[in-house]
Amino acid sequence: MKTNDSKSHLNRIARHIVDIPRSGIRDFFDIVSTKKDIISLGIGEPDFDTPWHVRESTMFSLEKGATHYTSNRGLLELREAIAAYVKKTFKVAYDAESEILITVGVSEALDLALRALVNPGDEVLYHEPCYVSYRPSIVFAHGVPVAVNTKPENGFRLTRELLEGKITPRTRVLMLNFPNNPTGAIVTREDLEGIAQLAEEHDLIVISDEIYAELTYDQEHVSIASIPGMRDRTIFMHGFSKAWAMTGFRMGYSCAPAELSEAMMKIHQYTMLCASTISQKASIEALTKPEFDIGEMVSEYRRRRNFVYQSLVDIGLPCAKPLGAFYAFPKIEHLGLSSKDFALRLLNEENVAAVPGSAFGECGEGFLRCAYATSMDNLKEAMIRMKKFVERIR
Ligand code: PLP
Repeated sequence: MKTNDSKSHLNRIARHIVDIPRSGIRDFFDIVSTKKDIISLGIGEPDFDTPWHVRESTMFSLEKGATHYTSNRGLLELREAIAAYVKKTFKVAYDAESEILITVGVSEALDLALRALVNPGDEVLYHEPCYVSYRPSIVFAHGVPVAVNTKPENGFRLTRELLEGKITPRTRVLMLNFPNNPTGAIVTREDLEGIAQLAEEHDLIVISDEIYAELTYDQEHVSIASIPGMRDRTIFMHGFSKAWAMTGFRMGYSCAPAELSEAMMKIHQYTMLCASTISQKASIEALTKPEFDIGEMVSEYRRRRNFVYQSLVDIGLPCAKPLGAFYAFPKIEHLGLSSKDFALRLLNEENVAAVPGSAFGECGEGFLRCAYATSMDNLKEAMIRMKKFVERIR
């Protein structure tokens, strides 16, 4: 039946979907896309090209006819390469046959894990400010999102004490993301040990999104799955979007005890079948050939981190020093504008795009996310313009 009454369609959409607001990032970038000559500190994706040998091998795969489905779990050769990489890098061993699942980005892995673990009404604990999809993904899985606020005074650190006050008998899952989007915070082994103890005491499963693991600047990343006792209650997630600059390949994976992995696989096989075959081939190339040096990319990000952090502080925007990922999250609250108004005016008056902190949860209000995944020249110009803007509104 044809109708012009849009309300009648709204009434048909599931309540929990209607109630979820659109992503603050998307709204903002709809405005950015209407503008020209913008310096963007907005997008959370590497400005580096996907390594050439990966792109070249993708073309060869196509030529050789890698255009059919793979097994639901993904190519065994890729899972074996991932098992070897995860063991070497994160010091945790997983069985390629039964514990590793190839997904369409970490995004799909997050969705699968939540849907596999959460019964309607179960509480899922996560820390804010956080990646924009966490809260909606919990709601899509019919869970109840419970946010723990981290604070700039202590570098957006997450501790056992912060989490403890929010645990109830309905808490089932704890979601972690370090290095963190949007704050650039990391987690220390000591803090992880406290969090691990808490997870054991309350029998929580931990979903650990470690997509930025390779991008740390002052100390090495530690995975919660490597803390004694945690491998068997952790769903470890990683992917190729950030450290290999392969966002468009949409490649991620989860490593988890066989029963949990199987539950995720069940949803994946009915909803996705498998991840893209050529992307899986490309990921084998990325993991097994040494041509690409992540270390060089990390050095460049470190140089930019140092510059952006110091510039923000000099401009008068206090900022917790980012220790990982490629984001700085300075405070703008004292300048008297909401984070959305600040970002909009910065965009309109100085042609610099950065994301309002409120997009990352309520406690992100009063902050701005500046991604330094762009060239040093762009960053220098962006900081000059931001200084002008701050001086004008102060
Ligand atoms: N997790 C975090 C913390 C992210 O920042 C992002 C993307 O920005 C994702 C997951 C999504 O990654 P993917 O491209 O693997 O789906």
